[in-house]
Amino acid sequence: MIIAIDGPAAAGKGTLAKRLAAELGLPYLDTGLLYRATAKRVLEANADPADEQAALLAARSLTQADFARPDLRDAETSKAASQVASLPAVRQALLEFQRNFGGRHGAVLDGRDIGTIIFPKADVKLFVTASVQARARRRWLEFQARGEEADFAAVIADVEARDEADRTRASAPLIQAPDALLIDTTTLDADEAFATALKLVRAKTTERNIGLD
Ligand code: C5P
Repeated sequence: MIIAIDGPAAAGKGTLAKRLAAELGLPYLDTGLLYRATAKRVLEANADPADEQAALLAARSLTQADFARPDLRDAETSKAASQVASLPAVRQALLEFQRNFGGRHGAVLDGRDIGTIIFPKADVKLFVTASVQARARRRWLEFQARGEEADFAAVIADVEARDEADRTRASAPLIQAPDALLIDTTTLDADEAFATALKLVRAKTTERNIGLD
């Protein structure tokens, strides 16, 4: 059972994916962490996140410890993650890890290209989005909760820039798969988004005759 959750930055994919995975007893993979951890390694090597060879080397060197780092969500790493994610060699290097993860026991995976490239035959595909204002507000509140200073206008600009880069890149751009079900979380809180998603997953699995406990 593969559930693919894609969508733009700060749409609520991670929270939703984690809750769905817990509810359905499936492993969860936040694929954004792969790109963030790659970016972090590149930055720490004082290399350029646009340098494909440096980024490829970083992607190939990742270990579990890289994903557990607490500092993968700062603004600099977010921007660099979007840069390394536009490089085809990096995406290719991380593809197998994602397929293996889901292929073992099934999984809920969230990212940008799960339903289009990584698991085009996923059992359920959700495309989770929200207005840019709503997404930037959530990201801003996350910064506040972590005690980090953030200017709201700068957060909006950052979210918009990353969306634009993710949507327009040549390699695995962010798009809604034709068979993905759309959830707009602009006016939904986390509980409402979860209830909506669970209903869609159950309807889809019933339609496809997949057993869920
Ligand atoms: O989801 P998150 O915001 O953590 O992802 C960080 C960056 O990694 C995104 O802006 C995007 O450029 C990239 N990404 C991607 N494909 C994925 C997951 C993330 O290109 N499946």
